[in-house]
Amino acid sequence: MNISFETLLQKDSFTKEEIIRLLKANGEQEKALFKRSHDVKLKHIGNKVYFRGLVEFSNICKKDCLYCGIRASNKMVNRYDIADDQILKAAKFAYEHKYGSMVLQAGERSNPAFVDRICQLLKDIKKVSNDELGITISIGEQTKETYQKWFDAGAHRYLLRVETSNPKLYNKIHPDNEEHSHATRLACLKSLQDIGYQTGTGVMIGLPFQTYEDLANDILFMKEFDIDMVGMGPFIEHDQTPLYEYKDDLMSLNDRFRLTLRMIAVLRIMMKDINIASATALQAIDPLGREKALKIGANIIMPNITPTQERANYLLYQNKPCIDEGADDCTNCMEARINMADGEIGYGQWGDSLHYKSRL
Ligand code: SF4
Repeated sequence: MNISFETLLQKDSFTKEEIIRLLKANGEQEKALFKRSHDVKLKHIGNKVYFRGLVEFSNICKKDCLYCGIRASNKMVNRYDIADDQILKAAKFAYEHKYGSMVLQAGERSNPAFVDRICQLLKDIKKVSNDELGITISIGEQTKETYQKWFDAGAHRYLLRVETSNPKLYNKIHPDNEEHSHATRLACLKSLQDIGYQTGTGVMIGLPFQTYEDLANDILFMKEFDIDMVGMGPFIEHDQTPLYEYKDDLMSLNDRFRLTLRMIAVLRIMMKDINIASATALQAIDPLGREKALKIGANIIMPNITPTQERANYLLYQNKPCIDEGADDCTNCMEARINMADGEIGYGQWGDSLHYKSRL
């Protein structure tokens, strides 16, 4: 017999069936779920919200993921690659505005010149920030040697989204070739963890063909992999991608949004001390989306500090917010938003994953 919803919420960990039940909660039950995850967050990591100044420095990518607006085959994209001095300027901005950390994100490339360029950039970012700025990178699948080089050069967190833990679903949303392999992605995550990175992953929520069971398995996967950070958001279709043909089969944007919040809530209850990012894609659906996620269980926010003229060209999905604001506008807007969510900004702090520290 099913235990009551209230009793279920008091548990610290859930079975797959229980997760599915929680992910389907609505009305008063959904409210109770959000209340519980909010309480867990306050008890285990407090109300601090940490900044990661995000620089999307290039939309050049060798991959062709079927859902992504900047996939290699999309000839409608204006490709850009921000010069290193501009990236360093953004890093300096992040440092001077006490962001504590920044994220270097780009499409995937792995030629030797690119690998060396990132090494140099990491060292230069450390230099311009008096060795104080924390650095997360998110540049896809690389060899273990490359990950090690970047780690040695100063990066200490890496975000590599698995997108789904189900290999069959992964194959449906990626081209069928060696370049797009679920097994390789998992091996990369393992390498990152072995090297000593704070390792982050994430999934898309509301994909075509995705089931509640897939999502429950995603949460169990993160738990089993002992992941330190998570960035997950609703799937938002892009009309210049092959997956767009399934747009009529998707749940409504609002349903994808609510489901993402429930995913965050369940994950927070099960992984109490990890870092969870409040994804920008939430704001693309609901203007207060990121604040809602912060209240429920997220504790990381990524103000976009990419030079404004290039932001409109980094559209992994459509209706992306904040593509025409300068970095200063972004900071002011974030501060107000975090206050609204009863959060307090951890200015000048790295805000590392407590979970990472506890598993060392
Ligand atoms: S999702 Fe990432 S790896 Fe895939 S095409 Fe887009 S930028 Fe490239």
